Amino acid sequence: MYPYASSVATTCTSCTTPYSASHSPGIFLTTATGPTWICEPCAETQAPRCEACDLPIWPGPQADAAVRVHHHDGHELLHVHNGCAPSHLLLCAWVTWSEYGGPEEGGWQYDAGRLLAAIPVPLEGAANRRTTTAAAVLAADELLANAYRHLAEGDTQLTTTIELDLPEPYFPLKRPHYE
Ligand SMILES: [Zn+2]
Ligand SMILES: [Zn+2]
Repeated sequence: MYPYASSVATTCTSCTTPYSASHSPGIFLTTATGPTWICEPCAETQAPRCEACDLPIWPGPQADAAVRVHHHDGHELLHVHNGCAPSHLLLCAWVTWSEYGGPEEGGWQYDAGRLLAAIPVPLEGAANRRTTTAAAVLAADELLANAYRHLAEGDTQLTTTIELDLPEPYFPLKRPHYE
């Protein structure tokens, strides 16, 4: 089960707690310098969180199989478990405006917005790396700009975001208070 547990005097590579068979197993990894072990609390704290399910992406096979999702311009959008990788993202159009918050400090404002539409954008690519296609994103962008151009007047703006799931239809969900 844990092939190095008996053959290696092991301490956690992060907090130096000694390995003991009575502990929760933690994670054994084989590195260039030999087998290592990281205790479960350290592994959980240090592992990146899956942006789909919010659970840790454990080092080792799970991290090796994890999927990175990129925008076609190259920037990373998501780092998720292999099983959590989506086949589509949603290009969401928002109308946003500035809302009066209150009279404190001579008056303050906050940003508010409402979801107008969400268009699925397919992802393509290899097992560990999926990418939106420029054609799909640009076509969806153009469609949204044409449909909602009339809303970007005066004090309101149009913006787009790329989302994993359909977001709440407006923000903020609660009116902010002065602090
Ligand atoms: Zn530790
Ligand atoms: Zn996940």
